[in-house]
Amino acid sequence: MSQIRLTKEFRFEMAHVLDGYDGLCSNMHGHSYILSVTVIGLPIQQKGHPKLGMVMDFGDLKRIVNPLIVSRFDHAVSVMENTPMHKRLVDAQFARVEVLPFQPTCENMLEYFAEIISAQLPAGVSLHHLKMHETATSYAEWYASDNS
Ligand SMILES: [Zn+2]
Repeated sequence: MSQIRLTKEFRFEMAHVLDGYDGLCSNMHGHSYILSVTVIGLPIQQKGHPKLGMVMDFGDLKRIVNPLIVSRFDHAVSVMENTPMHKRLVDAQFARVEVLPFQPTCENMLEYFAEIISAQLPAGVSLHHLKMHETATSYAEWYASDNS
């Protein structure tokens, strides 16, 4: 029996501000993020199981990732807590602000996403890697094998 990887792609539009950064991303601006979530496991062999032959139902993966990430970050602005922009957004009573304990870079978001997705996966299925495009030509990756 073979281990199989499954990947599902998610898209969301998010603004961010990188506090203290020495480039354009220190200004508030948005990206069209494309997040690929890859899990690995053995297809279910138990006869009569509704998911027979599947590592996991793609729909179940969607039901995990959508509320954790897409619903939360789509059309939101992410800022690091206790930064000047955080205070300005609070003062302006800006809606849909995600205040994070880290700089909202692709790298840090991926580390956080790996933690919250992994915690929700069914038994026997684990997170293999995440890949997130911030622009058409730039992406970051998180691999379980790099972090075990
Ligand atoms: Zn940016």
